[in-house]
Formats: sequence, structure tokens, C-alpha cells
Amino acid sequence: MTLFTVGPVEMYPTIQEVSSKQLPYFRNASFSNIMFELQERMLRLLHLKDGLLVTLTGSGSAAMESLCCCSFRNNQRVLIINGGSFGQRFSSICDCYHIPHDDILLPFPQRLTADILADIDGSKYCALLVNMHETSTGQLYDMQCLSQFAKKYHLYLIVDAISSFIADPLDMDDMGIDCVILSSQKALALSPGISFIAMNTRFYHEMIEPKDDICKYLSIKEHVKHMKRGQTPNTPAIGIILECMKRLQEIEIQGLQQVQDEIRKRALYFRKQCTQLSFTLPPFTLSNALTPIIVDGCAQELYHYLIDHHDLTLTPSGGTLQHTMLRVSHLGNLTLHHYDTLIQGMKEFGL
Ligand SMILES: *Cc1c(COP(=O)(O)O)cnc(C)c1O
Repeated sequence: MTLFTVGPVEMYPTIQEVSSKQLPYFRNASFSNIMFELQERMLRLLHLKDGLLVTLTGSGSAAMESLCCCSFRNNQRVLIINGGSFGQRFSSICDCYHIPHDDILLPFPQRLTADILADIDGSKYCALLVNMHETSTGQLYDMQCLSQFAKKYHLYLIVDAISSFIADPLDMDDMGIDCVILSSQKALALSPGISFIAMNTRFYHEMIEPKDDICKYLSIKEHVKHMKRGQTPNTPAIGIILECMKRLQEIEIQGLQQVQDEIRKRALYFRKQCTQLSFTLPPFTLSNALTPIIVDGCAQELYHYLIDHHDLTLTPSGGTLQHTMLRVSHLGNLTLHHYDTLIQGMKEFGL
């Protein structure tokens, strides 16, 4: 079986080895040191100098919800780039917590352009929320453009980078990003179950610290308080934290740029082969993480054909794109050879 899915992804043998071991106890100094080192490494990879890392046990959506409910209240409006199901998730979370919001709706395959932003009066908002790579469609947003918009109107910039961290360039200080949301099962190629919020300390002191908690398990203040001594409020997914430490060490040894180049190389290799086949790619900028392919009408048939005949699993699409689009991931332990097999299977299918 080979996974061309975005999460979970093909995991590395070194990580599988970590996850096969007995878990250690965690309320002690040696686990605290792991948490401190994890924070340090993660902030370094994100290029955030003066920051905090919150480690939550829960998938990426837990971090999205935690961030929204700990930072915003009903007296300040946020602006959401809503270009697919993950943008819609921000929107639904805000509804749930009565956080006033306006959404820039981008029905597939509409691009987010500078012109669209130029028409918006940003002075009504306190923050801009965006999924850097809207994984449901494959659109990678222009972070430079969004960053300029946020700066112009003094908005906090909140970026869900769950599927673009590692795969695409991301520099929090340089891009003026106040807060980044990550999770374990995408480009980090770990088991699902932990998510992270990395934020600059200014954002924490201004937007989170002064507010009374309205939730407990996902409280950022509780996590920050415990993290002062390298701990979490409750039992964390210890095993995934250990997987993460191992992966961050490997990434730093290999070099983030090198790891990113390899993902990009797979993406470009696959996209080049695609030109021999009869389907199209969407008209917007793509992330290195994923290639969405538009196979009008036969998405379901192709998905099942590749599983049944080649044991290859692509990422199916939901909602209105169910029959039109499949997504091919480039994350995790995949080689160019895997893409040759995939292309072969697609040709046999008759594309
Ligand atoms: C995967 C993903 C999430 C989180 O989904 P979970 O299933 O909760 O992990 C959020 N945002 C984006 C952009 C994603 O790709």
C-alpha cells in the first residue's frame, strides 16, 4: 500500500521505530527537557525569535479552535479567507464562539488576487485568518500579499500552515505572521494526534493573556503556564511528541531547505509527467505539498481503480468536487519511483 494522501502520509522507518517503543513516564525533568528542546527546534524552523509554542493533544482542528476561542471575543471582528473546507472550518469555529467575522469566499477554482484584497476595507478587523495552503482545493495563497494587507491595517496575521509547513517557504518574522497552526500528520509525517500553536509573545500578551478562559482543555493560558516548566496540563500524546523530536532532529541534520527541495522535486516531477495524460490542473498557484488533478466525472472510478489494481491511495475530494477532483500528495516518505508507478496506473486506467 502506498499513500498519496495528505495525512496520514507515508511515514519514515526511523519514526516507526520510535513509535514501536514503550512510552516513558512524563511528569519528570527528562520529559520537560524534551518539551523545551521541541519548542526551541520548532520555533527555529518557523523563524520565530521571540515566541511560544503550545502543544495540544488533538488533531489540527483542535489548534484552530483553541486559537480562535482563546484570542477573540464578540467585540472584535475577524476576516477569514474562505476558499474551501478548511477556510470554512475557521468560519464555523467563529460562529460557534460568536466571534463576528466576514469571509472572502473563493468558490473553486477562483484565485485570491491582490485586486480582491484591494477592494476590502481592512480597518474593521482585528485579525486576518488564513489557511496558507487550502488543502481541500490545493490553492497556495500569496503570503506576501496577505502580509502586506495585514500590515497596512495593523491586523494580527493568523496562519494555518498545517499542510504547507516544511513543504513551502514559511518565515514567521519575515512574513509578519503572529501565529502559526501546525499538526503532526501532514508534512511532519508523524502519527495524527498532536497539533501546535506557535505565536509571538506580543500576540500572547495582547490577545490571550488578558482574557478569561472560556474553555479548559484547549486553554492556551493553561498550556503556556505549564510549559514554563516544560509540561502540559494533561497527559499529552507522549509517543507522538517523541516521534516529533526525532523528526525535527532529522530535519535539522538534513537541512530544512533540503527536505523542502525534495518535496518540491517530487511535485515538479509528477506535474511534468501529468502533461502526457488527459487531465488538467487548477489555474491557481499550487503548494509543493499537493497536486490536485481535475478528472471530470471519473474521480471516484480512478480512486477505486488505483486502490484495487495497484494498492495506491490518492486523496479523494469532498462536497462539490467529489466527482471532479483527486489530490496527489508529495509529503512523507515517497520517491520518484512511486510516481512512475502512479503514472503507469493512470495510463492503464485510460487517462
Ligand atoms: C489537515 C488540515 C487541518 C486539520 O485537520 P485535522 O483533521 O483536524 O487534523 C486544518 N487545516 C488544513 C489546511 C489542513 O490541511
